[in-house]
Amino acid sequence: MVDEGLREGNDGYVVIRMTGRNERSTENQKRFNDVNERLGEVVKARVSPGERVAFLCECADDLCHGRVELTLDEFEELHEDKNVYVIIPGHPRVNGEVVLRGEARFEQVEKRCQ
Ligand SMILES: [Zn+2]
Repeated sequence: MVDEGLREGNDGYVVIRMTGRNERSTENQKRFNDVNERLGEVVKARVSPGERVAFLCECADDLCHGRVELTLDEFEELHEDKNVYVIIPGHPRVNGEVVLRGEARFEQVEKRCQ
């Protein structure tokens, strides 16, 4: 298996193998993603352009309460694709997810068909 997340110079990447739990985590991620979308709608009228909003981390950890700070533009741009989630760098990914974009503030991961 080729894992683009485990590239050179990046320490601390964790790929969790969750046999039988993938379904649940995907549900969880979708839920967090929905919450973030609603959050984006709610704060839209209140934030100024370029201002960052603390979105929920969309990683595979059911109990994660981490926040990813993104502007609304960044959030929309990063979520253009349905199978894409934004997580805190180094947070657990579900097996089969690859990192599309790694930044200091966030990682954009994509769920690939397994
Ligand atoms: Zn997380």
